[in-house]
Amino acid sequence: MAKVRLEEIKRRFNNVTAIEDITFDIPDGEFWVLVGPSGCGKSTILRTIAGLETATSGKLFIGDRLMNNIPARQRDVAMVFQNYALYPHMTVAENIAFGLQMRKVDAKLIQERVGTVARSLSLEHLLDRKPKQLSGGQQQRVALGRAIAREPQVFLLDEPLSNLDAQLRDDTRAELKQLHQELGITTVYVTHDQVEAMTLADKIVVLNRGRIQQIGAPQSIYALPANQMVATFLGNPPMNILSAKYTNDGFDASGQLIAVPELIKEKLQLHPGQNYDLGIRPEHISINNNSTLNTHTSAALSVQHSALSVDVKVVEPLGRETLIRASLPGSTVLLNVQIGGNVRVNVGDRLSVQLDL
Ligand code: ADP
Repeated sequence: MAKVRLEEIKRRFNNVTAIEDITFDIPDGEFWVLVGPSGCGKSTILRTIAGLETATSGKLFIGDRLMNNIPARQRDVAMVFQNYALYPHMTVAENIAFGLQMRKVDAKLIQERVGTVARSLSLEHLLDRKPKQLSGGQQQRVALGRAIAREPQVFLLDEPLSNLDAQLRDDTRAELKQLHQELGITTVYVTHDQVEAMTLADKIVVLNRGRIQQIGAPQSIYALPANQMVATFLGNPPMNILSAKYTNDGFDASGQLIAVPELIKEKLQLHPGQNYDLGIRPEHISINNNSTLNTHTSAALSVQHSALSVDVKVVEPLGRETLIRASLPGSTVLLNVQIGGNVRVNVGDRLSVQLDL
């Protein structure tokens, strides 16, 4: 196991800067997830740590050792790819053993190690099969097993679950988390899937256009995103962004007033007359009990309770919760509202909703 440190790593491809100013410090044994939209530079960072890519400038340390000029095979890292990259002519056992054989590890030790790895990944009954006789999920477990068997200092995973179907992806995600808890190997995991990032990470690095947007624990990034990109990227359905002008009475959103608690007023130092983007998570909006208020009373309530009138456009019952997409009257902006359980709401209803600011 080892810590990993990147100092101002930059990588250019001809005229294109793929990543820039990438600096972070992964403590020994932690699980970090690099997340962001396609093309934001995640794989380039991972490949740079692996030694499959050379940084244009900056420094990479694994443990206390500067790695910039150390070839990939001497870095003691193991990488798992999206497409598994198993050796098709070898059995599962031979695939898992391969890295150890290359290092001339004693045959008996290899056999023991293959057994242990196979047990921890429930692969014992598949050891004699060839990759093409395995399902996608099994192949991915073999790829993980091959990486784990080497007991690397650092474990690098590039979208390892993206070829699996939904159920298997969830199961394998949980297995990966368990595996990390058992082995404690420093792990860098690349994904564009915010659920994987939220559930797996000790720390998340959110990237956009080759630059770090925010680094933090999943819950703290979720609660306090550094900017709009982070706010709307993490969370499904995404955070609502509502443009509103601040007045002495509160925020004016398309003609409706949103009252602001004194505490928030003091904290944010709001300026009357200025426009703001309000970020509101879908689960922080609830439906007021008496939703059939006439416009007059609902406007009066609005000021007291940070309530809004909205017109329901789409209703999506999801079993455990209901997702409602609704617009402010006179505005095209859709608000995502997430309500626990099944609610009786129809398209076309005008609702009074409560914002939990
Ligand atoms: P991600 O993994 O987040 O999808 P990548 O790290 O693969 O993003 O790519 C980041 C950027 O660098 C993209 O704009 C991509 O087109 C560019 N890029 C990556 N590899 C190369 C390459 N070998 N040659 C030219 N451009 C590249």
